[in-house]
Amino acid sequence: MRATRAIIHIDRFCGNVKHIREKVGPAPLICAPVKADAYGHGAVPIARAAIEAGASYLAVATVEEGAELRSVGISAPILVLSLPLPEELADAARLRLSLLLGDEDMVKEAALAAEQAGEKLAVHLKIDTGMGRVGCRPEAASALAARIASFRSLMYAGTATHLSVADSRTPEDIRYTKKQLSLFTQSIESIKAAGFDPGVVHAANSGAILLHEDACFDMVRPGILLYGYSPVENPPIFVEPVMELITRIVLIKTMRVGEAVSYGRTWTVSEETRIATIPVGYGDGLPRGLSGNFSVRIQRRFYPLAGRVCMDQCMIDLGNDTDIQRWDEVTIFGGKAQSAADIAAKLHTIPYEITCNINKRVPRVYTDLFHSTRSHGVKSNAL
Ligand SMILES: *Cc1c(COP(=O)(O)O)cnc(C)c1O
Repeated sequence: MRATRAIIHIDRFCGNVKHIREKVGPAPLICAPVKADAYGHGAVPIARAAIEAGASYLAVATVEEGAELRSVGISAPILVLSLPLPEELADAARLRLSLLLGDEDMVKEAALAAEQAGEKLAVHLKIDTGMGRVGCRPEAASALAARIASFRSLMYAGTATHLSVADSRTPEDIRYTKKQLSLFTQSIESIKAAGFDPGVVHAANSGAILLHEDACFDMVRPGILLYGYSPVENPPIFVEPVMELITRIVLIKTMRVGEAVSYGRTWTVSEETRIATIPVGYGDGLPRGLSGNFSVRIQRRFYPLAGRVCMDQCMIDLGNDTDIQRWDEVTIFGGKAQSAADIAAKLHTIPYEITCNINKRVPRVYTDLFHSTRSHGVKSNAL
């Protein structure tokens, strides 16, 4: 296996689930979003760990992501969060995925596809209370609920909304979230008043779990929290980054004053130094934008990147006074080095994007629950 790998700490993942459970209390079900390959952590192992740790539902973005989970025998309810095309609905029905629908046309298409597949398709009604993405208007919810309930090939299984600023503590955003939640509650009431059971009611993403206790309803959908990052500062629960990106030094060379490192000659040696090459680059998902603005951890110290991040490699300035050696391990993020959130902050993005973008070329190595120390878990699994 190549030197660059993403260690996925399943023990930390399970710890995160436990802390979320403690925060929301015993009642709400947990739906674990494993979309985008579980935010880059690997959908199948993470889905299995989530279920083992007590999640009742999984959520994906696409029918194909749902198919991947079904193909390995995962039988838990799988909610497809984004809208598929009508021609994907037959597969969705055959795979017994649950759809999140908010318009009558798609409800009809889903009913037809389910009928043709000879399956009963579970539908969660999606209400747009202010996210502006998908879902029906709150005032249209009860009529749409009636429509879903009217098809024999559909099962009206749940009702949901999504919050756009639940992770913000500004008074204005808190007010906005409260408004979204009250529109949602009113919609649920209107559905009940019309004589329909709204099924599993859910709204809370990670931010809402942390800042809006009244958003938990019957089920919560914590994504980024499961992976060990909080969308709010000073979160009221402890979570630990699950992904650790590591590599090893494949070459160390001494470079002389005036010599240049990497594309564009943006970095030149000002004092004789030792330069290490590590086999990780933007082709693995290490953002090129980190060039000149990033350090890695080797043993107990941090060493800066020298020059630009290339597609497959980059260079580290070890300085002159070092006992670092060729083949030594390098932590890029997620361990004792900085976190993906620190990297995200440098690039004006969010940790979601950093872990999602660590791509297929980087092997995932899963620590098992009983090997919580890195050296154990990695070595026993990787060789
Ligand atoms: C991705 C997603 C979530 C999880 O969001 P986090 O911010 O990662 O907690 C919840 N609900 C829906 C509809 C989503 O698309």
